[in-house]
Amino acid sequence: MTRKQKTIAPITPGSDRLDENTFDSNSSHSRRLQQSGKGKPCPICDRTKDGDCRWNNEVVLCHTHKDRDAQIQGYVYRGVKDIWGQYFPAQEPVSKQSRPKAKKEFVYRDKDGHPLVQVTRIDNGEGKSNFSSRTGRGRRG
Ligand SMILES: [Zn+2]
Repeated sequence: MTRKQKTIAPITPGSDRLDENTFDSNSSHSRRLQQSGKGKPCPICDRTKDGDCRWNNEVVLCHTHKDRDAQIQGYVYRGVKDIWGQYFPAQEPVSKQSRPKAKKEFVYRDKDGHPLVQVTRIDNGEGKSNFSSRTGRGRRG
């Protein structure tokens, strides 16, 4: 039986300093930003004339719309950062929930409670719905 030993790493001063240059292009970290330029328009302002706008998969740094929300659909403005406005891709709502197979029957009744029309709704689980209706036994009288 071996006991797992928990080693506590010593806290080195300075290692947890605020990294203000997270988005610095000089950073050699994995977060590589690509620049706007010819054939690479900025997702926010379509800039192609120079490389003032930068972005990666996680964030767009737009130099044009830096201190106000450009209101680009699909991006959320999160304030100004240095010379850029930060835009984060909006999280898409989970909409791929398809209903489980279900069959529902609705019976429309008149004000006296007599069944008029019966509607059968079948959800086939693929987002499509089949509606079929048949007239119920109408009131005779
Ligand atoms: Zn831009």
